[in-house]
Amino acid sequence: MPTYSFRCKSCQNEFDVKLKMGDRTKQPCVSCDSVETTRVFSAMSVVLKGDGWTGKNIKIRGQMRAKNRRIAPKEEAFARDSKEMAAMTISPNVDGEQTDTWVEARELARSKGKDTTTYDSYVRKEKLK
Ligand SMILES: [Zn+2]
Repeated sequence: MPTYSFRCKSCQNEFDVKLKMGDRTKQPCVSCDSVETTRVFSAMSVVLKGDGWTGKNIKIRGQMRAKNRRIAPKEEAFARDSKEMAAMTISPNVDGEQTDTWVEARELARSKGKDTTTYDSYVRKEKLK
């Protein structure tokens, strides 16, 4: 049961009473029996509340990180796949003129006096297949 602090309005005495959570019944002063007492929110209870909240936040952050770790490899694989897909959908061509292979496309580009560096990467990929 949580301990609540009370202060007596008559004699200024402060005392602690153990109450059920949410119990708001007035507690008579332990020294003068006056019912004119008020709840005192001690600094300690505020600190405890703060710690509890921070702990919860850390727990949530940890869960988020764990979740992100699980998702990251899938996203990387997806990015890799879509990159390969993009490379595959580009069929060998020079200015829209289709060729059977990228090697041919590069030769055609070279014969046209074009820069073939962009074709080199496609030729490399083609050879890996
Ligand atoms: Zn009192």
